[in-house]
Amino acid sequence: MIRTRFAPSPTGFLHIGGVRTALFSWAFARKHQGKFVLRIEDTDLERSTAESVQAILDGMHWVGLNYDEGPFYQTQRFDRYAEVLRELLASGHAYYDYTSREELEAMRQEAEARGEHFWYDRRWRPDEGKTLPPIPDGVQPVVRFKMPLTGETAWDDLVKGHIAIANQDLDDLIIARADGTPTYNFCVVVDDYDMGITQVIRGDDHVNNTPKQINILRAMGATLPQYAHLPMILNEKGAKMSKRRDAVSVVDYDKQGILPEALLNYLARLGWGHGDDEFFTMAQFIEWFDLKDVSPSASRFDHEKLLWLNAQHIKASDNIRLAELVQPRLVQSGIEVNEQPALADVVALVKERAHDLNQLAEECRYFYVKATPSEKEVAKHWDADAPARMQRFATELEQLSQWDAESIHALFAPFCEAENIKMGKLGMPLRLSVCGTGKTPSIDQVLALLGREEVLRRLRQD
Ligand code: GLU
Repeated sequence: MIRTRFAPSPTGFLHIGGVRTALFSWAFARKHQGKFVLRIEDTDLERSTAESVQAILDGMHWVGLNYDEGPFYQTQRFDRYAEVLRELLASGHAYYDYTSREELEAMRQEAEARGEHFWYDRRWRPDEGKTLPPIPDGVQPVVRFKMPLTGETAWDDLVKGHIAIANQDLDDLIIARADGTPTYNFCVVVDDYDMGITQVIRGDDHVNNTPKQINILRAMGATLPQYAHLPMILNEKGAKMSKRRDAVSVVDYDKQGILPEALLNYLARLGWGHGDDEFFTMAQFIEWFDLKDVSPSASRFDHEKLLWLNAQHIKASDNIRLAELVQPRLVQSGIEVNEQPALADVVALVKERAHDLNQLAEECRYFYVKATPSEKEVAKHWDADAPARMQRFATELEQLSQWDAESIHALFAPFCEAENIKMGKLGMPLRLSVCGTGKTPSIDQVLALLGREEVLRRLRQD
């Protein structure tokens, strides 16, 4: 059974790159009828916060990436890490290191003086035929993992291809600190093992951790998972995404009025493709997804494309759902959404005009509160006879036997003929008078939806 996981560290918001990692991991599990696990990597007690855990859970819920197991918390698994630590010590794969802080500092300075990379000199590593120093008093030892000294650690990355690292470049990693707490790479390994993870799909900032993790897994007698390292997402300028300059948190996209399915569709296309397909559902994505189609190099975020996709998803979305999403945005901007016209009907009429939900809310506004036309629009369309002409048209509307778009439309041609005007001289002033803006969909449909009473009220107010 395929088992994948998403393992965020709760040290901030849910990052857009994290969502893409979660999406690929989720899709892989779904495609293979496997399980998708959520694991919160909260062992860094100083940087992890409860708010951040909540932001991750809320973010996952918002985008709709459902998990089958979890959330698991590393902080609740310390006993298990201690147990594996004892096993590795007992089997000789790990050892106590009593090097004092001062000794380590001296080692660092010497390396620096030689202009070399600092390495722990493995003085406490119990190799064959070696005599260890006497155990000093008062030093709480750390536990280090005995990395192989020769050969290489290699794996066939499902995205990046074959990767091999010379073992002489691997440090004897600290797996437990002097206070006994386990370190990051060690916890990840124990978790991936216990949770039966078959494919580790994560950001390529972890490539350097993989050989260390593989060696620990081997020491534990584990079957290795496959690894897939996903390239980074860069901003539009090709630089690393930054919290100050770019929208990096999922919450930012919600605020911008992006639909979760549009964000996922967009993220799916970032570094992965299926022919020319741009607009698709998650069901299609799952069907098409294959890690071998993920590009090994970084991709750039393209906001225009996200907005284009969002517009497609808005068009395809159910009107009642859209109304539910738009309502709070209208309320927030001080609009009281009346029962008539029903917001879902308004949304149905205007949704083709919006790229995001804020714009959609904007397009719905004048159905509830008449807008104020711009001076430019007034100068262009509100001619001297417009007020009187609108009153004459109001009388026509008042007398209409049936109130629907077709009947309203049928009034236009004869009215223009009688007045000896072109359609624009009716349509634009009518829009300005009733809606307060010239930018509306077909005006007969707008009037039909607004209702006769409201239309006449607005026309006669001018
Ligand atoms: N906790 C790590 C992170 O947030 C991910 C570790 C992993 O996927 O192995 O970057």
